[in-house]
Formats: sequence, C-alpha cells, structure tokens
Amino acid sequence: MFAEFPKLPCWIRGERIAAAFDVPAFKEKLRLINEPEISDIEIWEFLRAIESGSVMLTADGDREPQDVYSGNVAYSASNGWRIVIYNDCNDWDYIDQIVTIDGRKIVYNEIADSFPDIDCYEPTEDLSWSRYRIPGAASIRCILCDAHLKGPGSFDKLLDKHRTECRAKT
Ligand SMILES: [Zn+2]
Repeated sequence: MFAEFPKLPCWIRGERIAAAFDVPAFKEKLRLINEPEISDIEIWEFLRAIESGSVMLTADGDREPQDVYSGNVAYSASNGWRIVIYNDCNDWDYIDQIVTIDGRKIVYNEIADSFPDIDCYEPTEDLSWSRYRIPGAASIRCILCDAHLKGPGSFDKLLDKHRTECRAKT
C-alpha cells in the first residue's frame, strides 16, 4: 500500500494532506474515486429493457436456471451485456454482477453500497419466469407449457409425471 503511494496522482496526495483540514471535501473526493463504473441510470435501463423484452437473456451452459435451484445463474444479454442473478431455491434473489458490452463491471457489494433502490429490485414472479426462467420460491415449471408443477416428489419425478399431460405436447 505505502510502496504504491508515490505512484498516486499528485492531486490525490494533495487531498490526503488536505484531509486533515477539510474532511468533507476529502470524503467527497473518495466517493468519486470509488464511484461504480456503471451508473444507476444505465442499470435501470438494462433491467427495464429485460422486463419489456427488448433485451433478451440466454442462460449460459446447458442447465435451465431452475435446475441450478440454488446458486448463481449467468446470462448473456442480446445487447452484449452480461448479468448474473443469485437464484435462491428458485426465487430471483439479487443481482450478483453486471458487465457492460465495453467491459465495465459492477458486483453485488457495490450495488448494495451505491444503489440501494437497485439492491431492493426484484422482478414480479411472471417476469422472473418469462425473462430469467427462474420460476418462483421452491417451485418448478414446465418450460414448454409454463404449468406449475406441484409436489410432493422430486423435481425430476414431477417433470416425468407432467410429460404425459403437458399441454404443449403434440
Ligand atoms: Zn408442460
């Protein structure tokens, strides 16, 4: 840390000295240095575009998001951005990270610290299913006909049973 200190731009070194005299101004400067690379306006536009369907998401890999069940689900967006959602027992829980097409990135802690309104964001259950393929807390849905599959039984058994009665079957 101290070894790198002389490499800092001189105005930061100046502000460090000034801190003893003007703490609010120094804190404001630090806030600007730590400002996230992606603005809240950009994130809201991205989330609303996902909701409206003008930006479409494709989950990475072969697994359906609801098969992940608990854990991060990474998506590629049709606008070239990437988003990772934490799926908590098939409940859309929080944004783990977003990466813009030009490589700017924001992670969960930065969102929680800088943008509390985005931290509180959660899509409706319909949008969670239709846009993110995350079906709702502790539930599972048929990806062909959208039917809610109800227990008891494991998800595999529920899907097997449903295959014989799926409305999308031809
Ligand atoms: Zn079905």
